[in-house]
Amino acid sequence: MKPKINIAIDGYSSCGKSTLARSVARELNYIYIDSGAMYRAVALFALHQGYIKPDGIIDEDGLVKALDLVLINFKYNTDAGQNETYLNGVNVEREIRSIQVSNYVSIISNIKEVRAKLVRLQKRIAEGKGVVMDGRDIGTVVIPDAELKFFMTAEIRIRAQRRYFELKSMGVETTVDEVLANISSRDEFDSTRANDPLKQATDAIVIDNSNLTIEEQFQFVMGQILKKIGLLEGVD
Ligand code: C5P
Repeated sequence: MKPKINIAIDGYSSCGKSTLARSVARELNYIYIDSGAMYRAVALFALHQGYIKPDGIIDEDGLVKALDLVLINFKYNTDAGQNETYLNGVNVEREIRSIQVSNYVSIISNIKEVRAKLVRLQKRIAEGKGVVMDGRDIGTVVIPDAELKFFMTAEIRIRAQRRYFELKSMGVETTVDEVLANISSRDEFDSTRANDPLKQATDAIVIDNSNLTIEEQFQFVMGQILKKIGLLEGVD
């Protein structure tokens, strides 16, 4: 049997990390984990439970005390052909992509206790190997020993346009400028925050996909993975 490896995909907002990670996981028959969806689910919980006040003030202490009540899991939707996010038993896959959640998720994900809870969960999932996980701190904090790490980037206007079309197709009302403002502030916040900031792992392979198609990225990444698995097989 081929050795199973872990693959970490980090990078800036709306770089196509999830699209790539999902297709690679499908090809390899691996588990795909969208770690951003977990932070989004906690932000949604905070909104629903009133820990984010209408004036935008966050009741951090209240949220931290309630964290044990947050249960996040993924279930495979055969019709959609993908994993969907559940918060306390309710499918929130669509709701967690709203602009409102996007506006608060970076602040919520900077709370130490929120990160501790989700990182613990993510590490546990990765223990069994055969995992493709995307996020901001996967190669640096969650699975620093991942056999392969990728770091994705692209020009911000291209990212905003891609994300705008994706949201539009999901029925989310927005504009390219609104999306651009959101991803640029999240990039800034995620890269400079105190806890587990977004940064490139020293051993990550960088992919700037500004001028690459989804298929080209997929082929490149699969090439790297098959090479790595081949090397490991040689060692066995
Ligand atoms: O990947 P996505 O854009 O859905 O992530 C939403 C937000 O969740 C990011 O902007 C970041 O603030 C946070 N996040 C994080 N660590 C991760 C994944 C996401 O802090 N591993």
